[in-house]
Amino acid sequence: MEYFTSYTGPEAGPHVMITALTHGNELCGAVVLDMLFKSGFRPLRGRLTLGFCNADAFHSFNRDYPILSRFVDEDMNRLWEIPILNSARKTAEARRCREIRPLLDQVDFLLDIHSMQHPTPPLMLAGPMPKGRALAEAVGVPESIVIDHGHAAGRRMRDYDRFSNPMTHHAALLVECGQHWSKISVEVARQTMIRFLVATGCADQGLIEDWLGPAPPPAQRVIEVTAPVTVKNDTFTFVAPYIGMEVIAKAGTLLAMDGNTAIHTPHDNCVLIMPSRRLSRGQTAVRLGRFVD
Ligand SMILES: [Zn+2]
Repeated sequence: MEYFTSYTGPEAGPHVMITALTHGNELCGAVVLDMLFKSGFRPLRGRLTLGFCNADAFHSFNRDYPILSRFVDEDMNRLWEIPILNSARKTAEARRCREIRPLLDQVDFLLDIHSMQHPTPPLMLAGPMPKGRALAEAVGVPESIVIDHGHAAGRRMRDYDRFSNPMTHHAALLVECGQHWSKISVEVARQTMIRFLVATGCADQGLIEDWLGPAPPPAQRVIEVTAPVTVKNDTFTFVAPYIGMEVIAKAGTLLAMDGNTAIHTPHDNCVLIMPSRRLSRGQTAVRLGRFVD
């Protein structure tokens, strides 16, 4: 398949996949996959697949309108539901998902690398299953792990079939490295990729020393999403220019107006996760969460 490359290691092991450009404008993952290709890295065991998901969107990049290269026809990371994948939907993204799907059906562990609209601290989106959280903790970075159910607008690749099956070991992570096009995001993507290769057995611990040095990362903390806020009206406005990871101390604090409906924090110490600038009906405006042990 175009823009996907697999290597097989000398010993048995899991099939590990790292992907970039699921959103064509989110470049940090592509930069670090390029680093890995150029380093000549090969897996010690199992199979490693490196892939660029939406190359068509990436190739549409225009520096005057950089956000537009997020996708060609629709958001590729809302299509990973069996009825959609089995449908006759003809968008560029639906076609590409159907190409990738047979490969995904063989993957044990997935890391999908993204970036964000705002200069927000990085987040590992681990999904609602204990196996996702366990993989995020095995990787060890970034500092914040988000336990979440995804978006009302549709399933992400990390939510795909096998990764959402509690009876199997297959697990997937989506890392949000930081703001689009920032150098810090590239460094977060690099650290996450290297530690993911070690956590999944593709590489031994030495890879971390070689690429990142011996210092251990800071302790992680886990945030559980309590409520996604989905836009219901034509005008949705936040009361402040939130960028994400703000903690609102008191329950009942006004956050936003969705048409004439006031949106308040549902509980104390409410964490704002990835407030969006794409505030159209049916889209996720922000997700609300709380710290858990
Ligand atoms: Zn993204």
